[in-house]
Amino acid sequence: MAGKDPMDLRDQTLASTDFTQGKTLGTGAFGRVRFVTHKASGKYYALKTLKKAAIIKMKQVDHIVSEKAILEKLNHPFIVNMYGSFHDARYIFMILEYIVGGEFFTHLRKAGRFENEQSCFYGAQIAAIFEYCHSLNIVYRDLKPENILINADGYVKLTDFGFAKFIEHRTYTLCGTPEYIAPEVLLNKGHGKPVDWWTLGILIYEMIVGYPPFVDEDPMGIYQKILAGKIAFPKLFHKEAKGLVKKLLQADLGKRFGNLKNGADDIKEHKWFKELSWDDLAAKKIAAPFKPIVKGEADTSNFDDYPDSEEQPPAVNPAQDPFATW
Ligand code: AMP
Repeated sequence: MAGKDPMDLRDQTLASTDFTQGKTLGTGAFGRVRFVTHKASGKYYALKTLKKAAIIKMKQVDHIVSEKAILEKLNHPFIVNMYGSFHDARYIFMILEYIVGGEFFTHLRKAGRFENEQSCFYGAQIAAIFEYCHSLNIVYRDLKPENILINADGYVKLTDFGFAKFIEHRTYTLCGTPEYIAPEVLLNKGHGKPVDWWTLGILIYEMIVGYPPFVDEDPMGIYQKILAGKIAFPKLFHKEAKGLVKKLLQADLGKRFGNLKNGADDIKEHKWFKELSWDDLAAKKIAAPFKPIVKGEADTSNFDDYPDSEEQPPAVNPAQDPFATW
């Protein structure tokens, strides 16, 4: 059996004062993620801090509890690891592996678009992540460039499982980012694992073109375009990539790749991936097409700056705290 991961803090009783707080790496609906140093060990982490009162007000307790349960269950080289969690009267905390290369979003916007080979390298990793999550009946439901991080080795790490859900078949809540929402979600027909394959199609398109296939200033306009299903493929689109994207952006669930009898194999065996060894990818033996500039383990320069002043959120009465056993 493998020994205990030296980063793991799960056997310790922790408080926020055990960490030196560093730069804010990103913000979410209920709080922020900060770079922190664990004082006792000197190790670096990304500490996700969420306001209890805001979660309760927005009726998102179940989502957050499920995010933690899902992160505890997942163990994959392309998914952010969770090393512990704790809470106090105002906040809940998740201790995550710090991913030093920053958001995929930042790198994609900086580059404008990615070459076919680079898009293929990332697309394959996302496909591998979804195949793994779906094998555990976990649907991710929120793929977008902001939730993909790049590690120092140039491989991706998926973060933010706040929308992810354990499901056997279908679920009916509306969530996701307008540009990445699948038609069955808009039509309220229930949605499950195929939603993730749809979002992979959107991501591949966005990597190759530089913007997603359905765009409009207004979310309603985006939804109309998604339902109309017309996709323009610029000339620069590699033929095989176009073939796969068309199979993923299928409104008809009976035709969407990933959802057919061969499951994820239809995607993995697609011609766009014909040069790729899936075993080598999983073992990180493929040389990454791009590596972020990293000046050390504690470098935070790949993340944008966020204003840091924040008012203290209210404390939650322990007798009414749904996170009492967090
Ligand atoms: P989240 O609330 O989980 O979506 O995280 C908000 C933002 O924080 C992300 O978009 C990233 O920019 C940053 N972030 C989240 N997790 C990590 C991590 N493990 N390492 C570095 N940055 C992270």
